[in-house]
Amino acid sequence: MLQYPRKNDLAQIPTPLLPLDRASERWGCGHRLWVKRDDLTGSALSGNKVRKLEYITAHAQDHGFDTLITCGGIQSNHCRATAFAGAQLGLSVHLILRGLEEGPRDGNLLLDHLAGATVNCYSTREYVEGLDGLFEQWQAHYAALGRKALAIPTGGSDGIGLWGYIAACEELKADFGHANIERAHIVTATGSGGTQAGLTLGAALHQLPADVWGVNVCDDEQYFIDKVAADIAHWHSLYPEAPAVDYATRVLDGYVGPGYGKAGAEVFDLIAQLAALEGIVLDPVYTGKAFRGMLDEIAAGRFTGCQDIVFMHTGGIFGVFPQAEGFRW
Ligand SMILES: *Cc1c(COP(=O)(O)O)cnc(C)c1O
Repeated sequence: MLQYPRKNDLAQIPTPLLPLDRASERWGCGHRLWVKRDDLTGSALSGNKVRKLEYITAHAQDHGFDTLITCGGIQSNHCRATAFAGAQLGLSVHLILRGLEEGPRDGNLLLDHLAGATVNCYSTREYVEGLDGLFEQWQAHYAALGRKALAIPTGGSDGIGLWGYIAACEELKADFGHANIERAHIVTATGSGGTQAGLTLGAALHQLPADVWGVNVCDDEQYFIDKVAADIAHWHSLYPEAPAVDYATRVLDGYVGPGYGKAGAEVFDLIAQLAALEGIVLDPVYTGKAFRGMLDEIAAGRFTGCQDIVFMHTGGIFGVFPQAEGFRW
């Protein structure tokens, strides 16, 4: 029996697993396409980070922390979700963001401020060279005030956050039963690696009949093989009584495009096509690239021999608005 730590109920779960009939017909090459709607885990709390934050926030409360410090890009979904989780639980949130503010506040950055988070924006250089120091500096700042601040790593991807997607695999197992799915490929965007690591580990722990694939939106295949291993090793170090399992890390590399947070025209076109075809909104940073990658790999025959393919919709809708100029009408 797997012993889960305490969590806060923040996410609207279970999320629906829905068939994409028209998308299957258009792009499936004989496969049945499904979407796991983790974009519906909440309204402001939307997306995959909420599942991780259920465990991370409980850990914070149980260890006497009153403040959450975390980091990410200026339009980080994780930072926005942390800001709202903090607001819901009465914890203060301090965000260290990569990128300087330009133009009007939009998307996730606007929401960070609405949720009352303290926000500091740094140039990419200051952020990349000094991130550890910034965490230490702000933790010391709160300590001097008699407060206690938890440093949450990028994307909430660590041994604690992993529980969110370990638990999601139990949910998927029940979904597979209801949908008569015997075996599937699961495709998710991967950015800080925690969702992929949680799904990979959870599938092994719960004997979910599925291969988990991460479409990387930054870095490369080797980076994610190492990151998944590091997250799982961290999980084992925190929960030494948990069972050891064999797992395989599967990465679909080649869909980063111009860079993290930057998408090519083919991604914007696909976002518009899927929204009109199925009423589902992807984003240009994560899910648009992952869906594009999934379709290209289907066409290339990567998944032959297995009928069902589940796309993990990890959220990201607020990232659409700051990039509205990318769409061609
Ligand atoms: C953070 C994020 C991801 C990637 O998840 P990781 O656990 O960081 O790899 C995918 N999609 C969206 C919308 C995200 O915000």
